[in-house]
Amino acid sequence: RNARAPDYLSGLNAEQRAAVETTEGPVLVLAGAGTGKTRVLTTRIAHILATGRAWPSQILAVTFTNKAAREMKQRIGLLVGEQVEGMPWLGTFHSIGVKILRRHAELAGLKSNFTILDTDDQIRLIKQLIKAENLDDKRWPARTFANMLDGWKNKALTPKDIPEGDARAFANGKGRELYAAYQARLQSLNACDFGDLLLHPIAIFRDNPDVLAEYHDRFRYILVDEYQDTNVAQYLWLRLLAQRSQARGERSTPLRRVAAAVTHSGVADAGGAGESDPPAVNICCVGDDDQSIYGWRGAEVDNILRFDRDFPGATVIRLERNYRSTAHILGAASHLIAHNEDRLGKTLFTDHSDPDHQKVEVNAGWDSEEEARAIGEAIEDLQRREDHNLNDMAILVRASFQMREFEDRFVTMGLNYRVIGGPRFYERMEVRDALAYFRCVCQPADDLAFERIVNTPKRGLGDATMRLLHDYARARGVPLIAAAVEMVETEELKPKPRNALRRVVTDLVRWAEQLSTAKHTDLAEQILEESGYTEMWQNDRSAEAPGRLENLKELIRSMEAYDTLPSFLEHVALVMDTEQNAEMDAVSIMTLHAAKGLEFETVFLPGWEEGLFPHQRALDEGGRSGLEEERRLAYVGITRGKQRVKIWFVSNRRIHGMWQSTIPSRFLDELPEAHVEVMEANTSYGGYGAGGFGGYGASRWDGAAAFQEGAYTTPGWRRAQAANAGFAGGNGGRGRGGDGWSGGRTREISYDEGG
Ligand code: ATP
Ligand code: MG
Repeated sequence: RNARAPDYLSGLNAEQRAAVETTEGPVLVLAGAGTGKTRVLTTRIAHILATGRAWPSQILAVTFTNKAAREMKQRIGLLVGEQVEGMPWLGTFHSIGVKILRRHAELAGLKSNFTILDTDDQIRLIKQLIKAENLDDKRWPARTFANMLDGWKNKALTPKDIPEGDARAFANGKGRELYAAYQARLQSLNACDFGDLLLHPIAIFRDNPDVLAEYHDRFRYILVDEYQDTNVAQYLWLRLLAQRSQARGERSTPLRRVAAAVTHSGVADAGGAGESDPPAVNICCVGDDDQSIYGWRGAEVDNILRFDRDFPGATVIRLERNYRSTAHILGAASHLIAHNEDRLGKTLFTDHSDPDHQKVEVNAGWDSEEEARAIGEAIEDLQRREDHNLNDMAILVRASFQMREFEDRFVTMGLNYRVIGGPRFYERMEVRDALAYFRCVCQPADDLAFERIVNTPKRGLGDATMRLLHDYARARGVPLIAAAVEMVETEELKPKPRNALRRVVTDLVRWAEQLSTAKHTDLAEQILEESGYTEMWQNDRSAEAPGRLENLKELIRSMEAYDTLPSFLEHVALVMDTEQNAEMDAVSIMTLHAAKGLEFETVFLPGWEEGLFPHQRALDEGGRSGLEEERRLAYVGITRGKQRVKIWFVSNRRIHGMWQSTIPSRFLDELPEAHVEVMEANTSYGGYGAGGFGGYGASRWDGAAAFQEGAYTTPGWRRAQAANAGFAGGNGGRGRGGDGWSGGRTREISYDEGG
């Protein structure tokens, strides 16, 4: 059989091959990072097609990102050649959901050309509803409600299903009503939001067995990647599509009960798949509980654990051989993740154990600027001396504000980079808004900038006012701001918009006057405060708001390297001008969340400090789950590396706009000595960044110590490291353990043990 195995099967190990060839019946592949789960899915599709088990249009395959879907399509093409004429049902939950909904929109009370609301539209709509209810929108902000709505929709809860406590939590019990009103309003607008892309199909399938049956006949094979990050709605949607016999037999069971059973995991299954016929659809899910990193967005790792209850007789396949990383990388990652209590646990091994392989590096720096400089140099080194492609290197950050320092540095160095999974720092919405304010102040003829901010935050300056202003400006041949200054002295506008506009332009004029006198960073901060822009995000309860505030602080911080606001704006214009095309050789910069499923020869992991990674929000949450999700994120980060992983931490970082002396991340302490090497500083700044590695830069370490008040300890791991690697006590680690050592004492220990 082996001899005649088609090409695409050769090279797979026995377990992988079983996962590919067990085409009939439910299959769950539960395996660690880099074991070939995605490769199994791709090969399985190729196998199904090559053996004529199904047409491309009879396969439903779900990936986590659109990019992953494109790559999978490409690879299937490579494996089985021309015979694949596209895969119409290969995509993300959302992209497949919208396709299904367009075909049956009328069953959800929509027309097939319905629009999909973006977040802004959604907020505006909720605001109207809150007003209509005569509620105080300061007390009950639209964004808070939008967030609750998201949570409910992730759990597939319709207005009548939401728990009593939840319904009461908003506007004294109006939560349920508002939700219902919101849905009614969407319907009258012929629109839906992202959650509806799955919820409408779920309702359609439930209420129209004939429609569901059509899909049961259509989809012979269902495949899902990154199954650990599916939420309840996605889970229900999949289950309806996959459990053919059950779904038919279950017609009378309200979905609500199923949803309830899923949300409160542990409660008996409402469907009771075991009672009905075995499922006739072949579903294959692959995932890794250790890589579940979207809990904050409603993902339920329990979905994996329930798989064999939902699909009785499921074949569960474990893959244990990691093909991606060296033994050091794998050893470091496995040891780290073993600190989580909430996990299934699994073994991973690799044949990649060459004595020449580098250990996982831990580097220390003085501050984030040095971190960016040193990583930039390391990248150039690999490129020049070792002839590595930039495409094979990635920088994975915990929070998007960290990207700014790297982007600025790389532009200065002339190093190509691209930002994956989101806009570049200066292209982020909040950063562009802030920059538009600054441009209005420095360049009063910048009409585009003015249009961007005139009604951000909302000031009641709508389209009608702007049309009048445009006409006024055109008639006089002057820029918008100049026109507005004149116009607010006339009767052309109604009093309300006139006053609002007057406030905007007087602010702009006043700030412009301060340009030559005030310190530019102070002025910038003042502009964002006085305009109400910062406040807008402070009042925002969405999950992204804290990150946006961080980015605004980071923006102000990035100005420090420039003398004036105009020279800073010029720099930004240059950065924005650098091209980002997919073809060029470039370093990738992205968040750890966006890095899921990807791999690179060399991975840089900066910012391993308490409060940043693990992130403060997870720590504030208390309890285990937030911290364990951070640790899974660290596991995801390390396991992206094939050959080299280089971790960084610094002693000083600006967080929320303030310099803070930092404590190295607890995750560093959780790395196994055998696989880790603590690096001596070798940056342009001599040793000082390393805060006293091997006795380098002792004077600078004094500075670092002086910066950090309070007790110092040297965590055990680092003390142990000091003995073999000349590591001299690291960067302090303020207060951990709090055994009252003075800074001086730390230094003593440094030299004793490091020498
Ligand atoms: P993650 O959990 O990070 O998503 P994964 O389990 O999906 O990882 P893949 O991305 O499919 O793993 O595979 C990791 C790497 O190992 C890829 O480069 C893949 O091509 C390679 N690989 C997988 N299986 C084999 C094999 N049998 N022989 C050689 N290389 C393999
Ligand atoms: Mg994968």
